[in-house]
Amino acid sequence: MQVKIDAVLCSGHGRCAVLAPTVYKLDDNGYNADRGKTLEVPAGQEAAARKGAKLCPERAITLIEG
Ligand code: SF4
Repeated sequence: MQVKIDAVLCSGHGRCAVLAPTVYKLDDNGYNADRGKTLEVPAGQEAAARKGAKLCPERAITLIEG
């Protein structure tokens, strides 16, 4: 599974990293540190990745299953 973080939609709420710190990291300004990138979700962290994506207020995280 991969997650894509939209560089424009992410507005720095930081909820993804609070809910799923094993998957999502923040930069010094509270934005997702991987904006504009696609990340590989670590094995066993798929549920956390889904939760973070679902609860992002801006829907900035796209799940890529597989
Ligand atoms: S919850 Fe969404 S808007 Fe907030 S930092 Fe994470 S990706 Fe960005």
